[in-house]
Amino acid sequence: MSARLKVSNMSGTSAGRFPERRLVAIYPGSFDPLTNGHLDMIARGSRLADHLIVAILRNTQKQPLFSLEERFEMIDAATSTLTNIEVDSFEGLLVEYAARKSANAILRGIRAVSDYEAELQMALLNRRMRPETETVFLMAAEEYSFISSRIIKEIVTLGGDVSQFVPASVAARLRAKFSR
Ligand code: ADP
Repeated sequence: MSARLKVSNMSGTSAGRFPERRLVAIYPGSFDPLTNGHLDMIARGSRLADHLIVAILRNTQKQPLFSLEERFEMIDAATSTLTNIEVDSFEGLLVEYAARKSANAILRGIRAVSDYEAELQMALLNRRMRPETETVFLMAAEEYSFISSRIIKEIVTLGGDVSQFVPASVAARLRAKFSR
């Protein structure tokens, strides 16, 4: 009986051993456009992190289909029910952006083995440059693992319907862009 008492006393005092810690994660990407696969990652990331920053990469080398403002609006609309999400954009080094945002994690998705090699290289580089920010990988949900922004654009260009692969507002904007 005294052993049980001891155990219960210990559990009563052990809470103090867990320091208060906030997980601030950045989910970076082009999101050109946002897909249901990205949205699944954002929903799962928002359950893991205290604060999740969906960060749109402003890449001056690549001409995106959607402007930064359009991509921002699509993500903002599709994530409006999630309370711990911030939508932002950045250019330059991700680790420098992570430092500015005091982020301790970078969230990335792995769809297939083909994603792994590039993601491993980026994660190792980023860790070497800023060890305080850890890259965290989530496996893509099986129902979204074949979806990429590139393939969505390809289907739409060929006249196909992508409404089952992207949020409704994204499908509407894609239709508007390609019906002209
Ligand atoms: P990139 O331009 O680097 O490919 P994306 O905007 O396509 O960036 O994707 C950003 C992140 O989201 C990457 O980590 C990518 O692996 C992940 N991702 C993209 N599509 C999916 C999906 N269908 N399921 C899970 N993760 C995904």
